[in-house]
Amino acid sequence: MTPSLECYSCAAHEAMPTRRCDCGEPLWFEVGAAEWPQPGDDRGMWSYTDHLPAGQPPGFPGAIGGTPIYRADGLLDADCSVRLKDETANPTGSFKDRGSAVGAAWALDHDLPLIGTVSHGNMARSVAATAAAVGLVGVVLVPADIPEERLSHIGAYGPTIVRVQGDYADLYDRSYSLEPGIDGRFVNSDDPLRVAGQKTLAYEIARAAEPDAVVLPVSSGGNASAVWKGFRELDRAGRLDAVPRLYLVQADACSPIADAFQAGKPSVTPTPAGDTVAYSIANADPPSGNRALAAVRETGGAAVAVTDDEIREAQRLLRRRAGVRVEPASATTLAGLYSLVATGAVAESETVVLVMTGTGLTEPPEEDVEPPTVAIDELENELPRLLTG
Ligand SMILES: *Cc1c(COP(=O)(O)O)cnc(C)c1O
Ligand SMILES: [Zn+2]
Repeated sequence: MTPSLECYSCAAHEAMPTRRCDCGEPLWFEVGAAEWPQPGDDRGMWSYTDHLPAGQPPGFPGAIGGTPIYRADGLLDADCSVRLKDETANPTGSFKDRGSAVGAAWALDHDLPLIGTVSHGNMARSVAATAAAVGLVGVVLVPADIPEERLSHIGAYGPTIVRVQGDYADLYDRSYSLEPGIDGRFVNSDDPLRVAGQKTLAYEIARAAEPDAVVLPVSSGGNASAVWKGFRELDRAGRLDAVPRLYLVQADACSPIADAFQAGKPSVTPTPAGDTVAYSIANADPPSGNRALAAVRETGGAAVAVTDDEIREAQRLLRRRAGVRVEPASATTLAGLYSLVATGAVAESETVVLVMTGTGLTEPPEEDVEPPTVAIDELENELPRLLTG
Protein backbone atom coordinates (compact mmCIF):
# COMPACT_ATOMS: atom_id res chain seq x y z
CA MET A 1 0.00 0.00 0.00
CA THR A 2 1.06 3.65 -0.46
CA PRO A 3 1.15 5.10 3.00
CA SER A 4 -1.20 8.08 3.03
CA LEU A 5 -2.62 9.70 6.12
CA GLU A 6 -6.22 10.76 6.55
CA CYS A 7 -8.17 12.76 9.09
CA TYR A 8 -11.20 10.85 10.40
CA SER A 9 -12.91 14.16 11.11
CA CYS A 10 -12.51 16.36 8.02
CA ALA A 11 -11.19 13.74 5.55
CA ALA A 12 -8.11 15.84 4.71
CA HIS A 13 -5.09 13.93 3.40
CA GLU A 14 -1.52 14.38 4.56
CA ALA A 15 1.80 12.65 4.07
CA MET A 16 4.23 11.19 6.61
CA PRO A 17 5.87 12.19 8.88
CA THR A 18 2.92 14.44 9.91
CA ARG A 19 0.76 13.33 12.82
CA ARG A 20 -2.01 15.89 13.09
CA CYS A 21 -4.42 17.42 10.65
CA ASP A 22 -4.65 21.21 10.32
CA CYS A 23 -8.07 20.88 11.97
CA GLY A 24 -6.28 19.70 15.11
CA GLU A 25 -7.38 16.06 15.04
CA PRO A 26 -4.98 13.09 14.86
CA LEU A 27 -4.33 11.37 11.53
CA TRP A 28 -4.37 7.67 10.75
CA PHE A 29 -3.19 5.63 7.78
CA GLU A 30 -5.78 5.10 5.12
CA VAL A 31 -5.56 1.85 3.21
CA GLY A 32 -7.29 1.53 -0.08
CA ALA A 33 -8.28 -1.87 -1.37
CA ALA A 34 -5.90 -4.36 0.21
CA GLU A 35 -5.59 -8.13 0.29
CA TRP A 36 -6.90 -10.03 3.32
CA PRO A 37 -4.95 -13.04 4.54
CA GLN A 38 -5.75 -16.49 3.28
CA PRO A 39 -7.26 -18.87 5.81
CA GLY A 40 -4.39 -20.65 7.52
CA ASP A 41 -2.03 -17.69 7.29
CA ASP A 42 -0.89 -17.52 10.89
CA ARG A 43 1.80 -14.86 10.87
CA GLY A 44 -0.02 -13.00 13.65
CA MET A 45 -0.50 -9.33 12.89
CA TRP A 46 1.83 -9.60 9.90
CA SER A 47 -0.76 -11.75 8.14
CA TYR A 48 -2.18 -8.29 7.44
CA THR A 49 1.00 -6.81 5.96
CA ASP A 50 -0.98 -5.48 3.03
CA HIS A 51 -2.90 -3.24 5.45
CA LEU A 52 0.17 -1.95 7.27
CA PRO A 53 2.43 0.99 6.36
CA ALA A 54 5.68 -0.98 6.79
CA GLY A 55 7.08 -4.42 6.02
CA GLN A 56 7.44 -7.31 8.46
CA PRO A 57 10.47 -6.65 10.70
CA PRO A 58 12.88 -9.30 12.04
CA GLY A 59 12.80 -10.83 15.52
CA PHE A 60 9.85 -10.91 17.87
CA PRO A 61 8.29 -7.73 16.44
CA GLY A 62 7.81 -9.73 13.23
CA ALA A 63 5.83 -12.35 15.15
CA ILE A 64 3.47 -10.22 17.25
CA GLY A 65 -0.24 -10.84 17.58
CA GLY A 66 -2.26 -13.97 17.12
CA THR A 67 -3.00 -13.69 20.84
CA PRO A 68 -5.53 -16.09 22.40
CA ILE A 69 -9.22 -15.32 22.52
CA TYR A 70 -11.36 -17.57 24.69
CA ARG A 71 -14.68 -17.85 26.49
CA ALA A 72 -14.79 -16.90 30.15
CA ASP A 73 -18.43 -17.24 31.04
CA GLY A 74 -17.86 -17.68 34.76
CA LEU A 75 -17.26 -13.96 35.15
CA LEU A 76 -20.86 -12.96 34.83
CA ASP A 77 -24.11 -14.16 36.35
CA ALA A 78 -25.99 -12.91 33.33
CA ASP A 79 -26.28 -15.09 30.25
CA CYS A 80 -24.15 -13.18 27.82
CA SER A 81 -21.19 -14.88 26.31
CA VAL A 82 -17.99 -13.24 27.52
CA ARG A 83 -14.73 -13.67 25.65
CA LEU A 84 -11.35 -12.38 26.67
CA LYS A 85 -8.93 -11.22 23.99
CA ASP A 86 -5.71 -11.84 25.86
CA GLU A 87 -3.19 -9.21 24.88
CA THR A 88 -1.13 -10.04 27.94
CA ALA A 89 0.26 -12.87 25.79
CA ASN A 90 2.30 -10.41 23.74
CA PRO A 91 6.06 -10.56 24.44
CA THR A 92 6.20 -7.55 26.76
CA GLY A 93 2.74 -8.18 28.16
CA SER A 94 0.53 -5.64 26.40
CA PHE A 95 -1.04 -4.69 23.06
CA LYS A 96 1.55 -1.91 22.81
CA ASP A 97 3.85 -4.46 21.11
CA ARG A 98 1.64 -4.30 17.99
CA GLY A 99 2.15 -0.55 17.66
CA SER A 100 5.83 -0.65 18.55
CA ALA A 101 6.39 -3.33 15.90
CA VAL A 102 5.04 -1.08 13.14
CA GLY A 103 7.02 1.89 14.49
CA ALA A 104 10.21 -0.16 14.35
CA ALA A 105 9.37 -1.60 10.94
CA TRP A 106 8.81 1.87 9.53
CA ALA A 107 12.09 3.12 11.00
CA LEU A 108 13.92 0.17 9.40
CA ASP A 109 12.20 0.78 6.05
CA HIS A 110 13.32 4.43 6.19
CA ASP A 111 16.85 3.84 7.49
CA LEU A 112 16.23 5.64 10.74
CA PRO A 113 18.45 4.27 13.51
CA LEU A 114 16.19 5.16 16.44
CA ILE A 115 12.68 4.87 17.86
CA GLY A 116 11.54 6.58 21.01
CA THR A 117 8.59 7.09 23.29
CA VAL A 118 7.29 9.18 26.15
CA SER A 119 6.11 6.66 28.73
CA HIS A 120 7.02 5.08 32.03
CA GLY A 121 4.76 2.06 31.72
CA ASN A 122 3.86 -0.57 29.14
CA MET A 123 4.67 1.54 26.10
CA ALA A 124 8.15 2.28 27.47
CA ARG A 125 8.84 -1.40 28.06
CA SER A 126 7.46 -2.32 24.66
CA VAL A 127 9.48 0.27 22.72
CA ALA A 128 12.66 -0.63 24.61
CA ALA A 129 12.29 -4.35 23.90
CA THR A 130 11.23 -3.81 20.29
CA ALA A 131 14.21 -1.56 19.56
CA ALA A 132 16.54 -4.14 21.09
CA ALA A 133 15.01 -6.91 19.00
CA VAL A 134 15.51 -5.21 15.65
CA GLY A 135 18.85 -3.51 16.37
CA LEU A 136 17.56 0.05 16.72
CA VAL A 137 18.44 2.52 19.43
CA GLY A 138 15.51 2.88 21.84
CA VAL A 139 14.95 6.19 23.62
CA VAL A 140 12.55 6.41 26.54
CA LEU A 141 11.73 9.71 28.21
CA VAL A 142 10.43 9.12 31.74
CA PRO A 143 9.31 11.49 34.50
CA ALA A 144 12.02 12.52 36.97
CA ASP A 145 10.17 10.91 39.90
CA ILE A 146 9.74 7.46 38.29
CA PRO A 147 9.87 4.64 40.87
CA GLU A 148 13.00 2.41 40.76
CA GLU A 149 11.02 -0.72 40.02
CA ARG A 150 9.49 0.70 36.85
CA LEU A 151 12.85 1.95 35.76
CA SER A 152 14.26 -1.55 36.03
CA HIS A 153 11.46 -3.03 33.90
CA ILE A 154 12.33 -0.57 31.13
CA GLY A 155 16.09 -0.55 31.62
CA ALA A 156 16.27 -4.33 31.33
CA TYR A 157 16.28 -4.02 27.53
CA GLY A 158 19.09 -1.47 27.41
CA PRO A 159 17.42 1.62 25.94
CA THR A 160 18.67 5.16 26.49
CA ILE A 161 16.47 6.36 29.33
CA VAL A 162 16.30 10.03 30.26
CA ARG A 163 14.55 11.30 33.39
CA VAL A 164 12.95 14.56 32.35
CA GLN A 165 12.26 17.37 34.79
CA GLY A 166 9.34 19.69 34.08
CA ASP A 167 5.77 19.18 32.89
CA TYR A 168 5.70 15.57 31.72
CA ALA A 169 2.30 16.02 30.03
CA ASP A 170 3.88 18.61 27.70
CA LEU A 171 6.52 16.15 26.60
CA TYR A 172 4.08 14.13 24.52
CA ASP A 173 4.00 16.85 21.86
CA ARG A 174 7.40 18.32 22.56
CA SER A 175 9.13 15.01 21.93
CA TYR A 176 8.29 15.38 18.22
CA SER A 177 10.41 18.51 17.92
CA LEU A 178 13.40 16.44 19.07
CA GLU A 179 13.22 14.13 16.06
CA PRO A 180 15.28 16.15 13.55
CA GLY A 181 18.14 16.32 16.04
CA ILE A 182 18.26 12.58 16.72
CA ASP A 183 17.32 11.01 13.39
CA GLY A 184 14.50 8.99 14.89
CA ARG A 185 10.77 8.59 15.27
CA PHE A 186 8.79 8.87 18.49
CA VAL A 187 6.02 6.30 18.48
CA ASN A 188 3.81 7.76 21.21
CA SER A 189 0.37 6.44 22.07
CA ASP A 190 -1.65 7.81 19.16
CA ASP A 191 1.09 8.06 16.55
CA PRO A 192 -0.32 6.91 13.18
CA LEU A 193 2.24 4.08 13.05
CA ARG A 194 1.18 2.83 16.47
CA VAL A 195 -2.51 3.09 15.59
CA ALA A 196 -1.88 1.15 12.37
CA GLY A 197 -0.24 -1.70 14.28
CA GLN A 198 -2.87 -1.81 16.99
CA LYS A 199 -5.80 -1.95 14.55
CA THR A 200 -4.81 -5.58 13.93
CA LEU A 201 -6.39 -6.26 17.32
CA ALA A 202 -9.79 -5.65 15.72
CA TYR A 203 -8.93 -7.86 12.74
CA GLU A 204 -8.06 -10.71 15.09
CA ILE A 205 -11.20 -10.28 17.18
CA ALA A 206 -13.35 -10.35 14.05
CA ARG A 207 -11.55 -13.42 12.76
CA ALA A 208 -12.38 -15.36 15.93
CA ALA A 209 -15.81 -14.10 16.92
CA GLU A 210 -18.62 -11.86 15.78
CA PRO A 211 -19.10 -9.85 18.94
CA ASP A 212 -22.01 -7.49 19.51
CA ALA A 213 -19.81 -5.38 21.75
CA VAL A 214 -16.12 -4.86 22.49
CA VAL A 215 -15.01 -3.33 25.79
CA LEU A 216 -11.65 -1.55 26.12
CA PRO A 217 -9.93 0.60 28.70
CA VAL A 218 -9.14 4.05 27.29
CA SER A 219 -6.46 6.56 28.12
CA SER A 220 -4.96 8.54 25.20
CA GLY A 221 -7.66 7.18 22.90
CA GLY A 222 -5.01 5.77 20.56
CA ASN A 223 -5.96 2.14 20.97
CA ALA A 224 -9.71 2.81 20.89
CA SER A 225 -9.13 4.66 17.61
CA ALA A 226 -7.09 1.75 16.32
CA VAL A 227 -9.76 -0.82 17.13
CA TRP A 228 -12.44 1.38 15.58
CA LYS A 229 -10.31 1.78 12.46
CA GLY A 230 -9.79 -1.96 12.17
CA PHE A 231 -13.52 -2.68 12.36
CA ARG A 232 -14.33 0.11 9.89
CA GLU A 233 -11.94 -1.37 7.36
CA LEU A 234 -13.45 -4.82 7.77
CA ASP A 235 -16.90 -3.36 7.43
CA ARG A 236 -16.02 -1.44 4.27
CA ALA A 237 -14.54 -4.58 2.79
CA GLY A 238 -17.86 -6.35 3.45
CA ARG A 239 -16.28 -8.69 5.99
CA LEU A 240 -18.57 -7.87 8.93
CA ASP A 241 -22.32 -8.10 9.43
CA ALA A 242 -22.10 -5.07 11.67
CA VAL A 243 -19.41 -3.05 13.43
CA PRO A 244 -19.53 -4.06 17.11
CA ARG A 245 -20.52 -1.38 19.61
CA LEU A 246 -17.38 -0.04 21.26
CA TYR A 247 -17.50 0.56 25.00
CA LEU A 248 -14.66 2.51 26.53
CA VAL A 249 -13.94 2.43 30.24
CA GLN A 250 -12.07 4.91 32.41
CA ALA A 251 -11.37 5.25 36.10
CA ASP A 252 -13.66 7.63 37.96
CA ALA A 253 -10.73 9.69 39.18
CA CYS A 254 -9.60 10.53 35.65
CA SER A 255 -12.38 10.24 33.09
CA PRO A 256 -12.35 13.06 30.54
CA ILE A 257 -13.72 10.86 27.72
CA ALA A 258 -16.50 9.27 29.81
CA ASP A 259 -17.40 12.72 31.19
CA ALA A 260 -17.72 14.21 27.70
CA PHE A 261 -19.80 11.25 26.52
CA GLN A 262 -22.13 11.28 29.51
CA ALA A 263 -22.61 15.05 29.24
CA GLY A 264 -23.30 14.82 25.50
CA LYS A 265 -20.47 17.24 24.77
CA PRO A 266 -19.14 17.62 21.22
CA SER A 267 -15.53 17.23 22.32
CA VAL A 268 -13.34 16.12 25.20
CA THR A 269 -12.01 18.75 27.59
CA PRO A 270 -9.06 18.14 29.94
CA THR A 271 -9.89 17.23 33.53
CA PRO A 272 -7.71 17.47 36.64
CA ALA A 273 -5.55 14.33 36.89
CA GLY A 274 -6.86 12.33 39.84
CA ASP A 275 -5.15 9.34 41.41
CA THR A 276 -6.36 5.83 40.52
CA VAL A 277 -5.13 2.24 40.79
CA ALA A 278 -5.56 2.12 37.01
CA TYR A 279 -2.47 4.29 36.48
CA SER A 280 -2.00 3.11 32.87
CA ILE A 281 -5.18 4.89 31.82
CA ALA A 282 -4.88 8.14 33.76
CA ASN A 283 -4.54 10.57 30.85
CA ALA A 284 -6.29 13.78 31.83
CA ASP A 285 -5.85 15.40 28.40
CA PRO A 286 -6.14 12.56 25.86
CA PRO A 287 -4.64 13.45 22.46
CA SER A 288 -7.10 11.14 20.66
CA GLY A 289 -10.00 11.85 23.01
CA ASN A 290 -12.30 13.29 20.35
CA ARG A 291 -11.60 10.41 18.01
CA ALA A 292 -12.41 7.94 20.80
CA LEU A 293 -15.64 9.83 21.43
CA ALA A 294 -16.46 9.57 17.73
CA ALA A 295 -15.76 5.82 17.90
CA VAL A 296 -18.30 5.22 20.65
CA ARG A 297 -20.92 7.51 19.12
CA GLU A 298 -20.64 6.09 15.62
CA THR A 299 -20.72 2.48 16.74
CA GLY A 300 -23.60 3.01 19.18
CA GLY A 301 -21.49 2.23 22.26
CA ALA A 302 -20.70 4.34 25.31
CA ALA A 303 -17.90 5.61 27.50
CA VAL A 304 -18.29 4.85 31.19
CA ALA A 305 -16.30 5.32 34.38
CA VAL A 306 -15.79 2.87 37.25
CA THR A 307 -14.45 3.29 40.78
CA ASP A 308 -11.17 1.96 42.12
CA ASP A 309 -13.05 -0.47 44.36
CA GLU A 310 -14.92 -1.85 41.36
CA ILE A 311 -11.65 -2.14 39.46
CA ARG A 312 -9.94 -4.08 42.27
CA GLU A 313 -12.88 -6.42 42.63
CA ALA A 314 -13.01 -7.07 38.88
CA GLN A 315 -9.27 -7.70 38.87
CA ARG A 316 -9.72 -10.26 41.66
CA LEU A 317 -12.54 -12.01 39.81
CA LEU A 318 -10.46 -12.24 36.66
CA ARG A 319 -7.79 -14.03 38.70
CA ARG A 320 -10.13 -16.22 40.68
CA ARG A 321 -12.70 -17.14 38.04
CA ALA A 322 -10.75 -16.95 34.80
CA GLY A 323 -7.17 -17.48 35.94
CA VAL A 324 -6.12 -14.29 34.22
CA ARG A 325 -3.84 -11.86 35.99
CA VAL A 326 -4.08 -8.38 34.53
CA GLU A 327 -3.14 -4.95 35.69
CA PRO A 328 -5.90 -2.72 37.08
CA ALA A 329 -6.34 -0.78 33.81
CA SER A 330 -7.42 -3.97 32.03
CA ALA A 331 -9.79 -4.98 34.82
CA THR A 332 -11.82 -1.82 34.16
CA THR A 333 -13.33 -3.71 31.22
CA LEU A 334 -15.00 -6.27 33.48
CA ALA A 335 -16.03 -3.60 35.99
CA GLY A 336 -17.49 -1.65 33.08
CA LEU A 337 -19.31 -4.71 31.75
CA TYR A 338 -21.04 -5.21 35.11
CA SER A 339 -22.51 -1.74 34.89
CA LEU A 340 -23.37 -2.08 31.20
CA VAL A 341 -25.29 -5.30 31.91
CA ALA A 342 -26.98 -3.72 34.94
CA THR A 343 -28.23 -0.78 32.87
CA GLY A 344 -29.27 -3.02 29.98
CA ALA A 345 -26.78 -1.44 27.55
CA VAL A 346 -25.46 -4.95 26.95
CA ALA A 347 -28.22 -7.55 26.67
CA GLU A 348 -28.18 -11.09 28.03
CA SER A 349 -28.14 -12.76 24.64
CA GLU A 350 -25.11 -10.88 23.37
CA THR A 351 -21.48 -11.80 22.80
CA VAL A 352 -19.01 -9.41 24.38
CA VAL A 353 -15.24 -9.27 24.01
CA LEU A 354 -13.23 -7.74 26.85
CA VAL A 355 -9.70 -6.78 25.86
CA MET A 356 -7.16 -7.80 28.48
CA THR A 357 -4.78 -5.02 27.55
CA GLY A 358 -1.89 -5.60 29.95
CA THR A 359 -0.39 -8.24 32.20
CA GLY A 360 -0.47 -8.20 35.98
CA LEU A 361 2.73 -10.22 36.25
CA THR A 362 4.89 -7.11 36.52
CA GLU A 363 2.65 -5.64 39.22
CA PRO A 364 3.25 -5.62 42.96
CA PRO A 365 1.40 -8.50 44.70
CA GLU A 366 -2.34 -7.88 45.06
CA GLU A 367 -2.97 -10.19 48.01
CA ASP A 368 -1.12 -11.50 51.06
CA VAL A 369 -0.63 -15.24 50.74
CA GLU A 370 0.01 -17.16 53.96
CA PRO A 371 -0.13 -20.91 53.34
CA PRO A 372 0.29 -23.39 56.22
CA THR A 373 3.58 -25.29 56.62
CA VAL A 374 3.29 -29.08 57.00
CA ALA A 375 6.01 -31.69 57.62
CA ILE A 376 6.39 -34.13 54.72
CA ASP A 377 5.31 -37.11 56.85
CA GLU A 378 2.17 -35.31 58.00
CA LEU A 379 0.93 -34.46 54.50
CA GLU A 380 -1.04 -37.66 54.09
CA ASN A 381 -3.23 -36.69 57.04
CA GLU A 382 -3.08 -32.96 56.75
CA LEU A 383 -3.83 -32.32 53.07
CA PRO A 384 -7.31 -33.90 53.06
CA ARG A 385 -8.05 -32.00 56.27
CA LEU A 386 -6.87 -28.69 54.79
CA LEU A 387 -8.96 -29.22 51.67
CA THR A 388 -12.14 -29.80 53.64
CA GLY A 389 -11.36 -27.35 56.43
C1 LIG B 1 -1.72 1.96 27.05
C2 LIG B 1 -2.69 1.13 27.78
C3 LIG B 1 -4.07 1.41 27.78
C4 LIG B 1 -4.66 2.62 27.11
O1 LIG B 1 -4.42 2.77 25.75
P1 LIG B 1 -4.55 4.16 25.01
O2 LIG B 1 -4.18 3.88 23.61
O3 LIG B 1 -3.57 5.12 25.65
O4 LIG B 1 -5.95 4.67 25.18
C5 LIG B 1 -4.91 0.52 28.42
N1 LIG B 1 -4.44 -0.56 29.08
C6 LIG B 1 -3.11 -0.83 29.15
C7 LIG B 1 -2.66 -2.02 29.92
C8 LIG B 1 -2.20 0.00 28.50
O5 LIG B 1 -0.89 -0.28 28.57
ZN1 LIG C 1 -8.96 17.22 9.93
